[in-house]
Amino acid sequence: MVSQWSYIKPLCIKVWICLLSCAVLRTHSIPNNEVNLLDSRSVTGDLGWIAYPKNGWEEIGEVDENYTPIHTYQVCKVMEHNQNNWLQTNWILNEGALRVFVELQFTLRDCNSLPGGLGTCKETFNMYYYESNDEEGRNVRESQYTKVDTIAADESFTELDLGDRVMKLNTEVRDLGPLTRKGFYLAFQDLGACIALVSVRVFYKKCPVLLQNLALFPDTITGSDSSQLLEVSGACVNNSVADDPPRMHCSAEGEWLVPIGRCVCQAGFEEVNGTCQVCKPGFYRSAPQTQSCSKCPPHSSTRAEASTACQCDAGYYRRDSDPTNMACTKPPSAPRNAISNVNETSVFLEWAAPEEAGGRKDLSYSLLCRKVSSVEPPGRQYEPCGSHVRYLPQRTGLRNNSVMVADLLAHTNYTFEVEAVNGVSELLAPLRHFVSLNVTTNQAAPSPISVVKKGQTGKNSIALSWQEPDRPNGIILEYEIKYFEKDQETSYTIIKSKETAIVADGLKPSSAYIFQIRARTSAGYGGFSRRFEFETSPYLAASSEQGQVPIIAVAVTVGIILLALVTGFLLSGRRCGYSKAKQDPEEEKMHFHNGHIKFPGVRTYIDPHTYEDPNQAVHEFAKEIEVSCITIERVIGAGEFGEVCCGPLRLPGKREFPVAIKTLKAGYTEKQRRDFLGEASIMGQFDHPNIIHLEGVVTKSKPVMIITEYMENGSLDAFLRKNDGQFTVIQLVGMLRGIASGMRYLSDMGYVHRDLAARNILVNSNLVCKVSDFGLSRVLEDDPEAAYTTRGGKIPIRWTAPEAIAYRKFTSASDAWSYGIVMWEVMSYGERPYWEMSNQDVIKAVEENYRLPAPMDCPTALYHLMMDCWQKERNSRPKFEEIVSILDKLIRNPSSLKTLANCSNRVSNLLVEQESGECALYRSVSEWLEAIKMGRYAELFMESGYTSMEVVAQMTLDDVRRVGVNLAGHQKKILNSIQEMRVQMIHVAVPI
Ligand code: AMP
Repeated sequence: MVSQWSYIKPLCIKVWICLLSCAVLRTHSIPNNEVNLLDSRSVTGDLGWIAYPKNGWEEIGEVDENYTPIHTYQVCKVMEHNQNNWLQTNWILNEGALRVFVELQFTLRDCNSLPGGLGTCKETFNMYYYESNDEEGRNVRESQYTKVDTIAADESFTELDLGDRVMKLNTEVRDLGPLTRKGFYLAFQDLGACIALVSVRVFYKKCPVLLQNLALFPDTITGSDSSQLLEVSGACVNNSVADDPPRMHCSAEGEWLVPIGRCVCQAGFEEVNGTCQVCKPGFYRSAPQTQSCSKCPPHSSTRAEASTACQCDAGYYRRDSDPTNMACTKPPSAPRNAISNVNETSVFLEWAAPEEAGGRKDLSYSLLCRKVSSVEPPGRQYEPCGSHVRYLPQRTGLRNNSVMVADLLAHTNYTFEVEAVNGVSELLAPLRHFVSLNVTTNQAAPSPISVVKKGQTGKNSIALSWQEPDRPNGIILEYEIKYFEKDQETSYTIIKSKETAIVADGLKPSSAYIFQIRARTSAGYGGFSRRFEFETSPYLAASSEQGQVPIIAVAVTVGIILLALVTGFLLSGRRCGYSKAKQDPEEEKMHFHNGHIKFPGVRTYIDPHTYEDPNQAVHEFAKEIEVSCITIERVIGAGEFGEVCCGPLRLPGKREFPVAIKTLKAGYTEKQRRDFLGEASIMGQFDHPNIIHLEGVVTKSKPVMIITEYMENGSLDAFLRKNDGQFTVIQLVGMLRGIASGMRYLSDMGYVHRDLAARNILVNSNLVCKVSDFGLSRVLEDDPEAAYTTRGGKIPIRWTAPEAIAYRKFTSASDAWSYGIVMWEVMSYGERPYWEMSNQDVIKAVEENYRLPAPMDCPTALYHLMMDCWQKERNSRPKFEEIVSILDKLIRNPSSLKTLANCSNRVSNLLVEQESGECALYRSVSEWLEAIKMGRYAELFMESGYTSMEVVAQMTLDDVRRVGVNLAGHQKKILNSIQEMRVQMIHVAVPI
């Protein structure tokens, strides 16, 4: 025993020296990712470890320079056999760690340096652990411990070492886990070595709390496995929100790895140097995804800090769907300069964009249509227009500045309100900005009949009844019932009736018949109803016996009557058969075969010359009017045969209405009387809204008179000259459309007019144009424009097609040539065709292919149509049917009228010809005013500051008034020109 201590003593002294130096280490801070569970060096009191057997491990109690105890356990039983010395720590709570590290500091004596101890001396010791949930494991058996490792020294020391230097302190670290209980004991087993266990430190590793990308990751204990990465979610801090949820991975070594996702500053804050700073007043940030705080957009503001949006200033608005960075906007002001153009029961409305669009691009227009109620007091009450009215392209959400309203009621007053709306208008509802227009529709044909019912059916007859059309558009004068045997359409019968029921008789038994009905008002026929098929009853043998006698009797009677009729008809010498086979005084029946009348009809024009007795023709086609029904009020013109007057016509049972009265002056010859009444015989055969309507004739008293509808605005040429420049292009095209429609009707009837000219068109108060002047030889005699040709005929040269001048080939195609001239007259406001050229020069020029140039401001599309009408080859000219359809298309698509014909060859009120031959806008205001014959206002315009055409182009009616233009006509002329100038500016700016 003594000999042993001789080794031990000096060892202990050296160890203590070492421990004194190690005590300095004690103050050395541990890494921030390690948490100590036990550090023997920092325990100030008793460690409380247990050695077994008692004479094995022993604690050497010493103090350092600060008198702090140092706990060192040593054992050195190298000379004795069978050593098994255990040193057990106290219970160590693992604080939730699944894997802990044990850092041992120790010295170990080299066995070789021990004399004679080699046989039993060891240079290692073992470390064990035992897990338990409490301190109950104090007395466990050795076998219950789990071995961690056998620990050997990196460096052992010899006796020589002790003499001259500080012995080497070994540091070994081992880890244990995965731990499953709350705590554990450590034990060190010595099997015969010379060891001094200087310190034991037990710790676990964690990833320390971390703030990165505005996300906070908490202290996280590493996993149980040395290769495990624990995913940890971060929490967004400092007014930030998760953009993509932030995550990091905690490695077994206590390092944060693989960051994913991030936090960003919430709305109302912006990131500055890694922190979220509040948006100042006047600035906002609407979403975390946006860059930084932005200044409030125009017309909005915010006084608060941390604003996520700015409030609109008073009078400005923002839709929910508007982005927050968009300026606040307002509803538009009302549309301006609205105009209407009525065509029968259609109205074309056009307007200019509002002065104030409100700062938005989603401007559109909507239309409110209201009917002025006929209920007393008239004009005061409004009703909705109803669902039958059609709007082209639509009623609301109109992007263009025009709309066509169709299927209105005839002769009805309407009010249209055109409202400009944009995205914020609805926020201000019911406040509306609109311009209103009052419009009166013209006459129109009735709508088709939709309900036809079969009544009693016999074997030879079918009774029919029907309902008035949904939209009669006036007083129904009569119905036309067309019927034919099924599949025998070429042979049909027409019955005219004033009632809504007829009996069609003379039919075959057991046969199917097709019926179609249409109504007529003063505006003409409406469309036929759809086809209705009804069948007659079968021929019944049983009744034939009794029916025999009456049938024979009826057959004989009918035969005699027919014979008498046919005889009378032949004796009358008429070339074209016409008889009123009257069944009922209100009914009239006609038969047709292969499109030709078998009995009289009105579908084909009948030349009154074919009547031997012209009086008969007159009474065939014209109604005799009692002279007492007419009051002549004043003279309105002079005709070839006498004065033309006007006054009211009061027919029994009808409302009084104004008529024109043409008189035949006293002292007329029989030929003059015949020619005079010839016009009535022709006119009486026509029934169309664009053909002057004959009311009747007075032949039974003197003076002989022709009574027609009264046209308030007189003849078209004079009317246009009086209103030079005062209509919109659409209004002019509307007039031309009416004339073309009347001419289509005449050509369909087989009537060639021969003297179509603006002077022979009459205009009523609604600007409806009607073709008039239907003479017989009149063209040759009474038209002052007519001149004698080389072949002796008298022809209105300037209006007449070359083939008609050359060899009197008058056809609907030559009427189409004249129609082209009428177009030119209309578009030039009554200019004389070919101006002061002589008739001979005109003939020559046309022969040499010279054609009239485009009138001033004439849309290209219209000039093309005129030129088409003036084709030398007459079959190449458009038919009236085509002309109507072309004009309809232009009206429906007014932008097609915006391109004006080349301005060369003409003086324009808008354009001047440049050297290049192209059109340019006017160069000065006075130049423009001169051109539209308003030069007198040039000075006033200058004084009011309207010195450039750009400024003039913005003028409104109020501006024009303020300048000092007081006459309504002049205001209108100037505004029309400005309106067209705008169109032209657009046209020049945007090449199509
Ligand atoms: P006319 O003999 O048909 O050429 O008529 C001579 C003039 O009388 C015309 O130029 C018109 O100014 C006027 N006139 C003829 N018919 C009418 C009418 N139905 N309504 C109004 N004015 C008419």
